[in-house]
Amino acid sequence: MIALPPLPALHASHAGVWLHDGESTRAVSRGEAVARAAETPVLLLNAPLTGQRLGYGDLSGLDLLELWAFLFPARFLVPTPKGLAEAVGLSPPQREQDVPALLSEATRLLLEQVAGDAPWPEREGAWTAAQSLHRLRWSWAPLVASAIPRPEQGERWLFSRLPEWEEEAPRPAPRPVALTPEEIGERLSGLTGANAETRPGQRDYALAVGAGFAPRQHRDRPNMVLAEAGTGIGKTLGYLAPASLWAEQSGGTVWISTYTKALQRQLDAETLRLPDPPTGKRTGRIVVRKGRENYLCLLNLEDALQGGFTGRAAILAQLAARWASYSKDGDMVGGDLPGWLPTLFRRNGSTALTDRRGECIYAGCPHYRKCFIEHGVRASAHADIVIANHALVMINAARGRESGNIPTRMIFDEGHHIFDAADSTFALALTGQEAIELRRWVIGPEGSSRGRRRGLAARLADVTSYDGEGARAIEQAREAATSLPSDDWLKRVTGGEPFGPLEKLLAACRSHVFARAEDGKADVDAGYGLETELAEPDGDLVEAAMEAAQALDALLRPLNHLGKRLEAILAEGPDWMDGPARARIEGAIASLGWRADLVSGWLAMLARIGGPNDPDFVDWLAVDRYEGREYDIGLHRHWLDPTRPFAQTVLKPAHGVVLTSATLRGGDGHWPTAEARSGAPHVGAAPIRFEAASPFDYASQAEVLIVTDIKRGDIGALAAAYARLIEAAQGGTLGLFTAIRRLRAVHARIADRLARASLPLYAQHVDPIDTGTLVDIFRDDMRASLLGTDALRDGVDVPGHSLRLLVMEGVPWSKPTVLHAARKLAAQGQGGGNAYDDALIRARLAQAFGRLIRRADDRGSFVILSAAMPSRLLSAFPANVPIRRMTLDEAVISVSERLGFATPLVHQTGESGMKQI
Ligand code: SF4
Repeated sequence: MIALPPLPALHASHAGVWLHDGESTRAVSRGEAVARAAETPVLLLNAPLTGQRLGYGDLSGLDLLELWAFLFPARFLVPTPKGLAEAVGLSPPQREQDVPALLSEATRLLLEQVAGDAPWPEREGAWTAAQSLHRLRWSWAPLVASAIPRPEQGERWLFSRLPEWEEEAPRPAPRPVALTPEEIGERLSGLTGANAETRPGQRDYALAVGAGFAPRQHRDRPNMVLAEAGTGIGKTLGYLAPASLWAEQSGGTVWISTYTKALQRQLDAETLRLPDPPTGKRTGRIVVRKGRENYLCLLNLEDALQGGFTGRAAILAQLAARWASYSKDGDMVGGDLPGWLPTLFRRNGSTALTDRRGECIYAGCPHYRKCFIEHGVRASAHADIVIANHALVMINAARGRESGNIPTRMIFDEGHHIFDAADSTFALALTGQEAIELRRWVIGPEGSSRGRRRGLAARLADVTSYDGEGARAIEQAREAATSLPSDDWLKRVTGGEPFGPLEKLLAACRSHVFARAEDGKADVDAGYGLETELAEPDGDLVEAAMEAAQALDALLRPLNHLGKRLEAILAEGPDWMDGPARARIEGAIASLGWRADLVSGWLAMLARIGGPNDPDFVDWLAVDRYEGREYDIGLHRHWLDPTRPFAQTVLKPAHGVVLTSATLRGGDGHWPTAEARSGAPHVGAAPIRFEAASPFDYASQAEVLIVTDIKRGDIGALAAAYARLIEAAQGGTLGLFTAIRRLRAVHARIADRLARASLPLYAQHVDPIDTGTLVDIFRDDMRASLLGTDALRDGVDVPGHSLRLLVMEGVPWSKPTVLHAARKLAAQGQGGGNAYDDALIRARLAQAFGRLIRRADDRGSFVILSAAMPSRLLSAFPANVPIRRMTLDEAVISVSERLGFATPLVHQTGESGMKQI
């Protein structure tokens, strides 16, 4: 047993604050806790969260989560006392006051595990990292460095540990194969297992999906399958069966795409059931791909480790380096980096470790052959199945270069989100933040800015020294880019002192938006985003747009010219151009192409100001704000129908596309709507339709309760209703809100009350914890409840008792944005304006309801706290689920009875409604 110096341990929750000082634990005031933490290092779990509970944001100490991240990088941990206890083999604490003693005991056990020569898979590199962390004054360093014995031999450093990718010959085109129903059925049985219960509809579903893999009959017209499979059909294995078979037999790749990262992670786990391939080589068959901004960039990490980061960010860089050595694929967002790690450092530095700004220098990078992103790109070209997301599939189809292979067989799970994904992928924004990014990409670091970012000239230094024309184009682009916004642009624009034509444009946009803002609207008054349609622009805006267009045109010309020069140099093949140089120039051509497209798009948008309207697009001006603070300003353009570019870039080149979801028809059972939102009409495809109802017995498993006595706008009553319902369900509640400010107001009123009843309440936009981790915590603790907004409506998969009550604050009406109004107007033109709105709301209700019952033995209640719920929208719920309108009192009783808890006694307490006694 190792001897630890006496360290106090601190735990703070909404119910109170407790301090353990070696002998005993006692309740302390917040002030005492903060003072104690300031004078001596205290053990705690999640410093930002503890600090928030104490009302002292800068709290620091010996955070056991940081210790975990150092000792066991890339290992999953639910960051709660219960999660920690289970991870180290202790009993979870029964009472909050037991937590500080648990922290002390867990610290001893964790350090004991790594002392001496105890088996510890992550030992390599730990001693060296501990020394570096000591120099950075990491609070754990003295304890850790003394516990880990010095290795006898020098340790391999991250950059020598990581494997290199090998170049492989391009894969031949997939063979045309026809899958038989027997083969698909057999594969499905193999995946579900011999003893699996037969799921009605699953086999038919697998056969329907299989039709998407038949050889294509017409060029530019893929086989399309729209398959709606109710929850419980077993969709995932249902499509993995034909997909894996086709990949094996044809030698091609199937891209399975999801909308949420949660489903991507779940799918990755499901593919472990796939049988070993005939070749026996399993590695690399299944590859998870995300956008490059999700992955650790080794060059950025090296820069951070070598002094680019200071203070706490430098400690994060060391922990990230530990993790990178053990990570499966370097995915920092939703991969095996604990989602809670960046938030411990208040996100300070984590985004700078990824390649967010497209500054990759490809073959010019010393880590190119070990790069996580390049590994993924290459692996996906040879994989059987690539698990990606909608946005990445669309970007790859549009850009091609990064994918290594353009997807031609695709299954879009969560297919009801194709419209939204296409809407954001094919949108265009000319804002201050976008424009300054372009400036930095062209010019590189300016003034006092640090980092290794390099401009075009530095990235293409070998070209400039070889080709005079190319060098001149780079210089002209650099010169033209100085007209783009620079550092502090927001301050200048909001202060009325814009500099240069683009900043002047932003200033004109801003005054236009404020001039047209309607006072009295909630978002205007509360300091959230403002927008206005691009119509009837005033003279200042028209003039600013013309000047900005001239400046952008002056930038576009040299960018295009440089692209042509680079192509010519590639064709000439000079002596100095070895493989890496060629790859670098190819990379530069591709990224120049995207930037040139971007600037062309901006020019088209500017031409619209004072020019003719383009009926294909919806244009507006916006000032983005958060609680009154402006953070971006500019112009936006979306397609009126984003499935048009989706059809053109994704569907047309594809051979087989399957869109599937439990709510593909948006809860209203209307196939033409589903087809229109899939893009099929734009390529003349006649999709195969398939539907299989959920096998669940909703009549007995679920109920929908519409509470009729909560007055709209009465936050006190709303909060009291949430509290009482959560108490009735004894936790296990997911609360969904359409406005962050109401979510916060409700949380602030009920968190303490629930904590005193041992019912922890977590909330997005309140707790300093990322959404994925919040869901992990919610899933792990049967008494926890979670409040959130849109992202939780269909990104949460919590089967079992952890989610037994779902409460919506009201009808999820669409936000009255310029874009929504334009689409509604277009639908009205076709005779269906209100139907358009209703279909969107039904879809949201159906998606939310879908969170509740995930398994045949789940039970739960779905409560809507709004008397204004129109009956016409209730068809969003399964036909046989009982739907009742009732008072809150009755709802509380119904919920507790359904879930088998004793009916809470209630009495009336003034304006906040009912209170438990
Ligand atoms: S190749 Fe690009 S993304 Fe990869 S490590 Fe190097 S700079 Fe970063």
